This record gives sequence, structure tokens and C-alpha cells, in this order.
Amino acid sequence: MIKANDPSLTSWVDVPLNSDFPIQNLPFGIFKTQSSTPRVGIAIGNQVLDLLMLNKLGFLNDFKIDDSVFSNPYMNDFIALGKSFCSLFRQRISNLLNVSNPELRGNKEARFRVLHSMNNIQMLMPVQVRDYTDFYSSIDHATNVGTMFRDPANALLPNWKHLPVGYHGRASSIIVSGTPFHRPKGQTKPADAESPVFGPSKSLDFELEVAFIIGKSTELGKSVTTAEADNYIFGLTLFNDWSARDIQTWEYVPLGPFLAKNFASTISPWVVTLEALEPFRTAGYQQEPKVLPYLEYTGEKNIDIHLEVVLQPEKGEENLICHSNYKYMYWTMEQQLAHHTCNGCNINIGDLMASGTISGPTPESYGSLLELAWKGTKPLKLTDGSERKFILDNDTIILRGYCEKNAIRIGFGEARGKVLPAL
Ligand code: MN
Repeated sequence: MIKANDPSLTSWVDVPLNSDFPIQNLPFGIFKTQSSTPRVGIAIGNQVLDLLMLNKLGFLNDFKIDDSVFSNPYMNDFIALGKSFCSLFRQRISNLLNVSNPELRGNKEARFRVLHSMNNIQMLMPVQVRDYTDFYSSIDHATNVGTMFRDPANALLPNWKHLPVGYHGRASSIIVSGTPFHRPKGQTKPADAESPVFGPSKSLDFELEVAFIIGKSTELGKSVTTAEADNYIFGLTLFNDWSARDIQTWEYVPLGPFLAKNFASTISPWVVTLEALEPFRTAGYQQEPKVLPYLEYTGEKNIDIHLEVVLQPEKGEENLICHSNYKYMYWTMEQQLAHHTCNGCNINIGDLMASGTISGPTPESYGSLLELAWKGTKPLKLTDGSERKFILDNDTIILRGYCEKNAIRIGFGEARGKVLPAL
């Protein structure tokens, strides 16, 4: 049996060149058709494999899974079956879609019932997120922000290289790609004003992030080590942690982000398993000063994921405004999770932990408009002749991401969101 990640595998399902979803990926998501209820699916090429129907038709009989696990508006129950189970399951799907296996390929009626064109389905939130944490783990982002707002000579605060800084976000306002939202309103204090004012944010920004989804719960009091961490991570998504910079500037002292962040965060609908990403692991930063023992780790724990941000004005064309990479993270997921649980804080299946804005070392790799336009001092020029310091009404921001090696591309699809005028 050929392993699911093997680059030599091909599928009988057509996978267009540069598709994010070859047979080596097999990401999980929740979808519905015009006439169906929400259910768990897997992306392959431009199609979605309906796991509920596949189970009903007997192709998954060896696993003895109740239909209710798939006939479900969230993947949490499926994730709860465990990582070793999921690995065997992914292997079974890989075999079913393998070009040399006639089992499903040769059954025209079954094929018709289990495969849907992506054009005819709607993607929904992949998991029920009970808790959402946002880190601040890109050294270039933290340095840029510290340089802009504090002191270029001491851009990183004293704790930054000793712990992965984070805050608790808001799970209720996480929305799936394609869901528009209204520009947030709030309290700001213009630089030349004596008192604050209330109104729509004038400095709405995106944050290019990658999130990981917790795949195994813990009891209160338990700490997860860096060595165990991967067993608690189901998979990754793209994540846009929209931010209202003017609201943030006024409100964040001393307790950190609040209403500047919790009005909306956009998640990509396909969860790429950590297993599919393993071939793209790469070495992380040399951490100096040396971290405390509970944050030490061994092996290559960063992941080489190309990331892009596109800004599309209303009725305009796509403008590629940023190229970055998940490998620019100073703190790894494993360290983030070890730190998050070092005090005994429990985690639950479906919890979402986001990386923080991922900026690289060069100006075109900055993961927010705040940095790309350098606090409004270097406006971006778009192809339609207009300029952007921050996001305007009716602009759409699209995050895209993919790994590539041995001519295999493991992609994430996109996290897309349109900003509507304030209500
Ligand atoms: Mn963020």
C-alpha cells in the first residue's frame, strides 16, 4: 500500500495543474449542496468527496463509523476519533481515489453520488470553535510594530524572546471565507483631539495568519510538552485576524486587544492535516537567548508554507500586495501550545490558535497593511490608480497559501472577506 503523502500517487479524479488539492492533500471541511444538510467532506481537485454518502454506500465499513459523525455541521466529532484513526482514514480515502483502484472509480452510480463540483456546493465553518487564542510570534512583525509605535532601538519588549506572547480572542465572531462583514465602529482618539470620538474605524487592517486546530482535549491541570504537542494538533487553516488599528491604539493599554479585534476573523474552510504538511517541515530560528527548558524542542518544527495576500477593490482586479511564509515564525506551534498549557489551562477539540501576523524580513513580505504602508506613510498603489493606507469599504482581502516540493502542491484554498460599509 502506498502511503498517502507519496509524491508518486495520482488520482482518477481530475486534478488540474496548480490545484491546491491533489491526492496527497485530502483536507477536511464542512459543506452542503443546494438540497443537502451540512456534512463532512474532503477536497480533491475541483471536487468535494461526500463522506456521509461514502459511509452510507459502504465504502468505509471497516471503520464502523456512525453516520452522525459525518452528518454534522462541524468536524469536532470526527476529530474526536483521534489522530491515529484519522491517519488510517486518510489512507483509506487515498486508496479509494488512487488511479489504480477501480473500487469507486468503476462504480459510476456511486461516483455520481459521492462527488460534487466545488461550483455547486457551499463551504461552512469547519469546526465549532469554543476558544480562540491569538499569538504574536513573528519576529519581523513584532519588530516592525515596536519600531513604529515605540522605539526602534528597543523594538521588542523584554519578554518577547522568552515567551510566545498571546491573548485570548473571541470565538463567536470567527466567520468562514466568503462571509462579508460591516466595518466596525468604536471609540478612537484622534491625535489632535482632547477627547475620544465614536464612529466607524478609519484604519481597518487585515492580519495574515495561519491557525492550528486542536485535535485532542486535555483535563484542567495538564500541561502539553513541546514533544507531545503534535499529537494535540489536528490541522491548519489560513486565518485573517481583521484589526481596527485606530480602535486598538486607544483601547489596548493596559490589558491588550479587545474590540479592535473581536468584530470578525476569517477562516479558510479546508483544514489541512498536520500529517499532509509533514514533508514541508523546515528548521526554525536559532532562539537566542536560550529558552526555558519547557519551551525547548528538537527537530525541524517550522513549516514552509508560501503565503499571499490579495486586495481586490470593488469591481477591480486582484492586486497581490504581500508574499510571506509561515516559516518566518520565531515561536513554533509546539512551543505556543506548550506555553499555553504550562499553567494547566485545558484545551478542547476545535479550539483555534492563531500564529499572529506573519511578516517576513523584506517589505513585500509584511503581513498587514499597517506595515506594508508603514503606518500610512507609504501608501500602496493599486493597478486601478487608487491608493491604500488601510482597507476601504467594499474592498475584498484574500489570503492564499500552499506548500510545494517534488512538484506536489499542498494548498489551503483561500480565506476571503469583503468589508461592507459600517451599519
Ligand atoms: Mn492577530
